[in-house]
Amino acid sequence: MGGAVAVPMWHDRRVMAVSDKKLELLFRRAEGLLLDESGFSADISRLASDEALQNLRELQGDLERSGKSERLKRLERAAGAHRAEAEEYIEKHGICGVMRHPAGDATVFMLPIETLPNHVNNIYAIVREKSHVLFDCGSGIGVSKRDIEFTLSIVRSVFKTEVHLERFDWCVISHAHVDHFGGANELKQHSNAKIAVHELDARVLEQFEERLVVTAKDIDIYWRRAGVSDEECAVLRELYSSTKLYVKSEPVQLKLEDGDRVEGYQAHHVPGHCPGLICLQVNDVLLTSDHVLARITPHQFPQALTPFGGIAHYFRSLKKVRELPGIRLALGGHEEPILDLARRTLEIEEFHRHRLEQVMDLCKTPKTIAGVTEQLFGVQERYGRILAIEEAGAHVEYLHQKGRLKIANLDEVARARDPVIEYVSVS
Ligand SMILES: [Zn+2]
Ligand SMILES: [Zn+2]
Repeated sequence: MGGAVAVPMWHDRRVMAVSDKKLELLFRRAEGLLLDESGFSADISRLASDEALQNLRELQGDLERSGKSERLKRLERAAGAHRAEAEEYIEKHGICGVMRHPAGDATVFMLPIETLPNHVNNIYAIVREKSHVLFDCGSGIGVSKRDIEFTLSIVRSVFKTEVHLERFDWCVISHAHVDHFGGANELKQHSNAKIAVHELDARVLEQFEERLVVTAKDIDIYWRRAGVSDEECAVLRELYSSTKLYVKSEPVQLKLEDGDRVEGYQAHHVPGHCPGLICLQVNDVLLTSDHVLARITPHQFPQALTPFGGIAHYFRSLKKVRELPGIRLALGGHEEPILDLARRTLEIEEFHRHRLEQVMDLCKTPKTIAGVTEQLFGVQERYGRILAIEEAGAHVEYLHQKGRLKIANLDEVARARDPVIEYVSVS
């Protein structure tokens, strides 16, 4: 949900194809036209929706490329005040990103929430008679709170389902990344919802200040060993801590283990992207959070930084959800629904296996993790640099664990107190 910011214009469409992500954003904004006049709020204006629809009309080539021409025609008909057409459109595509998915005796509402600038999370309201469960709660920053209110108002006004923030029984946190749990402090102020999270991530929620300090120390050592210069370490350290300082520790009421249930919904522990990551199964729908996403491959970090991270865990967790019986639909913590979960897990695994081979190639001559990072990702700015070093480091670590890489400067590593490690492929 982008809010009421001006609709971006792409002036030179001959050279710049519009991404699927941007098309989706335009659709979501244009779908404001399907809201009753009273449904408009500060978050979306009729003018912004009109502009977005006009933008879409000018992007026929991009719509055809991404198979969305038919959706635009349907939206135009729906916006033409045909009630039945509008209802049909909303059932299929949702409205302003809010989608209703039946899941056995429950209904799952997908609520897109802007949690950081230009970063949208999906949180989920899982509704059964007398049982309302929230899956993740956004970041807690201003737009995140605003979008939760706005999307819940759509659930009430369009889908005629009385869901209110203050009436949730539980908030199940998928994992301890701030865009998924940072809103917990705020939620507890407005709601009696009890908080459940996997036991490996409970410590992060309950002792967040400790977590920040300890991780900052560990990551500093990791960066030095990876070959990051002292000056850059100082910059990255500052950046690493500054984004998380507003979050405060929050008590957890239920610490989950693999297979545990909340209100009957089963938690599957899928370590890799985060140590305590869980997918929540709501009958035939699996909420995959950041374990499996529709378009991007979820970020990886080395388990040298935190146990239960790393590619080996991640591959095992991909296999685990691939083999879960009876899953009809998967819904991620970001991006669109995943219609074929098994296939998507294979695509992601294939992507990482290819990247592992790239790292093997790069390390034919000795490289530090910082060196591998630059070759894989080029120059990265700000937080992107931190993520790139972690991603490259996870792949180097996996290959080293499997004996396919070895340390190239062992004598130096043995002698130095704070060594930079170089890796080389074992031929
Ligand atoms: Zn995450
Ligand atoms: Zn995420």
